Amino acid sequence: MIEQSEPKFIVDSMLGRLAVWLRILGYDTEFHSGPGRNELLLRSLKEDRIIITRDTHFTRRQVIRFIFIQSDFLREQVQQLLQQYPNEIKVRKERLFSRCTLCNHIVIHIGKEQVRGRVAPFIYESIKQFSYCALCDKIYWPGTHWEKLLKDLAGMGAHGE
Ligand SMILES: [Zn+2]
Repeated sequence: MIEQSEPKFIVDSMLGRLAVWLRILGYDTEFHSGPGRNELLLRSLKEDRIIITRDTHFTRRQVIRFIFIQSDFLREQVQQLLQQYPNEIKVRKERLFSRCTLCNHIVIHIGKEQVRGRVAPFIYESIKQFSYCALCDKIYWPGTHWEKLLKDLAGMGAHGE
C-alpha cells in the first residue's frame, strides 16, 4: 500500500550507494549524477523530492527540504537516516526490494516460467517468485543477502512496521 505522504528523495552524486539502499527499502529515490547544484535544486522542487546531500552549501538555504548527511561511511549514513527520520524512513517488509536498484523503477513480480533459461538452473529450481525491471531488463530474486540486510537494519535500530 502506498501512502499519500510517502517521501521521495533525490540523492547527490557523493551518495550513490545510499541511493541504492533507499531503493532497496522501497523509496522513490533519484540519483543526481550530473553537475550543478542548481539542477539538483530545480529537480527537487519540480519533482517534490527531499535532497539528501553531503554538500554543506545546502545548509545555508532555508527554503528547500534537504537532509545533510554527516558521515562518509555508508553504514553510518543509513543509520543517520533511520535514527533521525523515523517517521519518514521506515523498514516495511512488504516494500523491501520493490524497486530496481539500478534505475528506481518499480519492479513487477513474475512467475518462474517467465525466467526459464535466463537464470542459473539452481536458482530456477530453488526460487518461487522473481521480480523484474522492464526498463533494465533485469531479474531479481530473494537471496541470502535479504536476510543479511534485514539483520543489518535491525542492528542499526531500524523502526519496522
Ligand atoms: Zn531498472
